[in-house]
Amino acid sequence: MSRWKCGIEGCDGRFEDVESAVIHQTVDHERHECKVCGTVVPEGYFAIRHAFDEHTRAEFVRAYDADSSAVRIREDVKDAVEADADLNSVVETLREQGAL
Ligand SMILES: [Zn+2]
Ligand SMILES: [Zn+2]
Repeated sequence: MSRWKCGIEGCDGRFEDVESAVIHQTVDHERHECKVCGTVVPEGYFAIRHAFDEHTRAEFVRAYDADSSAVRIREDVKDAVEADADLNSVVETLREQGAL
């Protein structure tokens, strides 16, 4: 069974490796407009990373009408991806494809 789910609402994409999942999220999904600052970022992992690297938890909760469990789920996803993914190679692949 594939270990990684896309996880974006309405998508049941599954992947053997995390790099493929992140590339799928970036290439195959509509971009996400950050509700805090309006920056357009790739959906999925990059949207989560943007929210938590660029903004405080409090800003996120306010802008997305989220609760602490929604924050925790996203932090867990971010940690899991970062623990497993070769993000440099993901970014390189996406640049080659012109997706970033
Ligand atoms: Zn997907
Ligand atoms: Zn933002």
